[in-house]
Amino acid sequence: MHSRPQISPERAAQLAAEWFEGQLDAPAELDSYADRNFLVRAPDGTKAVLKVPNVELAEDIDLQIAILKWLEARPSAPLVPRVLGPTRTIEDDAGRPTRAWMVGWIEGELWFDASPTPALREELGAALGQLARDLEDFRHPGMERHFAWNLAEANWIAEELHRFEDPARAELVCDALMQFQGRVLPRLAELPTQVIHGDANDKNLAVAEGRLVGVFDFGDACWCPAVCDLAIALAYAAMDLRLGCALPEVAAACAQVCAGYHGRRPLTALELDLLYDLLRARLAVSVTSSTRAREAEPDNAYVSASEQGAWSVLEALGAVGRRAFTATVAEACGLALAPRVPGARTGDELLAARRRRLGPSLSLSYASSGMPLYIRRGEGSWLFDEHDQAFLDCVNNVCHVGHCHPRVVEAGAAQMARLNTNTRYLHEGLVDYAEALCATLPAPLEVVYLVNSGSEANELALRLARDYTGGFDVAVLDAAYHGNTGNLVDMSPYKFDAPGGRGRREWVHVLPTPDPYRGAHGDDGPAYAAALDAADAAARGRGSRLAALFCESVLGCAGQVVPASGFLAAAYARARAAGAVCIADEVQVGFGRVGDGMWAFEAEGVVPDILTLGKPIGNGHPLGAVVTTRAIAEALGGGRMEFFCTFGGNPVSAAVGAAVLAVIEDEGLVANARDTGSWLRGAFEQLAADPVLGRGIGEVRGRGLFIGVELVEDRSTKRPDAARASAIVAHARARGVLLSTDGPARNVIKIKPPICFADVEARILASTLARALSATMR
Ligand code: PMP
Repeated sequence: MHSRPQISPERAAQLAAEWFEGQLDAPAELDSYADRNFLVRAPDGTKAVLKVPNVELAEDIDLQIAILKWLEARPSAPLVPRVLGPTRTIEDDAGRPTRAWMVGWIEGELWFDASPTPALREELGAALGQLARDLEDFRHPGMERHFAWNLAEANWIAEELHRFEDPARAELVCDALMQFQGRVLPRLAELPTQVIHGDANDKNLAVAEGRLVGVFDFGDACWCPAVCDLAIALAYAAMDLRLGCALPEVAAACAQVCAGYHGRRPLTALELDLLYDLLRARLAVSVTSSTRAREAEPDNAYVSASEQGAWSVLEALGAVGRRAFTATVAEACGLALAPRVPGARTGDELLAARRRRLGPSLSLSYASSGMPLYIRRGEGSWLFDEHDQAFLDCVNNVCHVGHCHPRVVEAGAAQMARLNTNTRYLHEGLVDYAEALCATLPAPLEVVYLVNSGSEANELALRLARDYTGGFDVAVLDAAYHGNTGNLVDMSPYKFDAPGGRGRREWVHVLPTPDPYRGAHGDDGPAYAAALDAADAAARGRGSRLAALFCESVLGCAGQVVPASGFLAAAYARARAAGAVCIADEVQVGFGRVGDGMWAFEAEGVVPDILTLGKPIGNGHPLGAVVTTRAIAEALGGGRMEFFCTFGGNPVSAAVGAAVLAVIEDEGLVANARDTGSWLRGAFEQLAADPVLGRGIGEVRGRGLFIGVELVEDRSTKRPDAARASAIVAHARARGVLLSTDGPARNVIKIKPPICFADVEARILASTLARALSATMR
């Protein structure tokens, strides 16, 4: 990983002689992570440090030297070493080109060996605050460095989560990463940024007679939010083993450093708010780096020197919690904490009020495990609870391009401030949106009706189908759900066959789910489609005819089932032969979720007669659409009945819908659904292949970011394991990852996150699922 230069002590003596006149003793080597440093004694008794950088980083010393020279000229007299003489280009003992330079020695003991007092910690904070002020205007061509210790880029640790064998440790790192990714990253650009020291650890600080006398080793200096320097220093100040990492002491030690810092460079409210997460991110980087380095270099003790301390602080901080930590720091700095939103109720109060005032048939996620969520804001793939704790949303297929996407919010707000009427007036936005939607669709899907929900879209599709064909009956797939109106509940086996359902109506004909995993015909799609003939016969047998085949292009409530090969093509052909129209319900799977195109039907080689849309279409704004052929669109009420939907197609909805389409296009989200989805399926398949963890996984399936993991008690009997599926969902919830279950037996873990789901987020999900599988093993 690192190419530490090879320099023998004799060679170091020779090199040092180029800086000092006279014969030098062989110098003593100092500890270093990646470089070679030697303590040199000049003939006149003065001490200095000969530094030979890591071969690959030889260029980076220019930045360090420029910083030290800049600081030397500051009136505040920063506690940094002086640069001695010129830099020399050399070869190390292995003949590799590198450079050597010399700095003055600061007399004192390392912080690591000292006994820090509260006053000393405050002094450290003050020195770092002063350093931040002194470096505020410093610029250098080499300052933008991308490397593992740049705290702004800490989320590389997502790729290393698999290295932690102990689940408790994996959880600590994963949680730190989640809060960094969810809370910190979106705010980074708002933080004041400058060149920072980047590594004020306990071996880069010198103490003499109880005072801080030196801050050295600028080898990790980089362009970074200023507060990161403080967070990094806290990681080590809290690690002081004499604290024993007892909870209050850890927060108090951090607060002492912060108070000193704040005295010199006042912390902003945002810096204070993010400090805890930045500190934990640094500790997570540290333990990840040590774990990785130990595997690569088992003999280099320095690489994992602080590992135990870092784990202890990470654990202690987890127990302290963000609120208590931040309150301690705020008090020490004399800062006010952000006040609670006036009038906001606690989660318990809300739950009680909800029970009093809202319909009891509404469900509340995680209520049965006693952990209902009180979500206060959303951003990207993240939701934040009343304590602003970040939760990874892996199941929300409505906020499709990311929660509260700024372009969508802006488009809706701007239009709402200008005009909101209905489709009885000419409006450019309405027509533009219908055109933009049709541009994503194949002919002859060219006419749009806008409504407010998926249910309204399916209800209108049913009317259109009946009016166009003259038939009345419908064919649906077993376990399907198409909406909440009276007709649609009657058409949804997921509802009418479930508790409280009224059973099947005679005009509804149910086809077996074309489920390659459980179905009677395996992956033979046309064999399942043959059931349409029986449906047609049954309809005619009761003096009716089939008006429509309603079918999702990938089956959602049935358990994230990709229909058996060739099913859709064969089913559409038979439905049409029976005189019915084919209705693709893409309320769940449309708008690029499947990754290989905008619409899930495309890859099946079919074009529906009517397409119904909802959920993702408005990114959370209530919107639905029916897109169909001109002939079908004109058939409503024999072409004589007006269709009016008060809110459907209003200018605000049209603006929101257009913004969603533009974001999908501009941010390349279909390709993201394909790539992130295929990485995730690969990761889940790897879990399924694991002889231990994979035992209960019957199947991993899906397309793009529409994925199902089916749990079974036994792979040979395929007996559904709903209890384990819900235990996994509860386990993940407690660790900040939101999932749910579906399928007729509720044994399928449903994964359908916003399609902006990032690589790091996918890795967090995979790691959490692995731990949940392990924790729920029987
Ligand atoms: N069709 C499908 C496939 C759905 O999943 C849903 C909602 N779960 C609907 C229709 C109904 O949509 P809405 O809840 O917006 O009425």
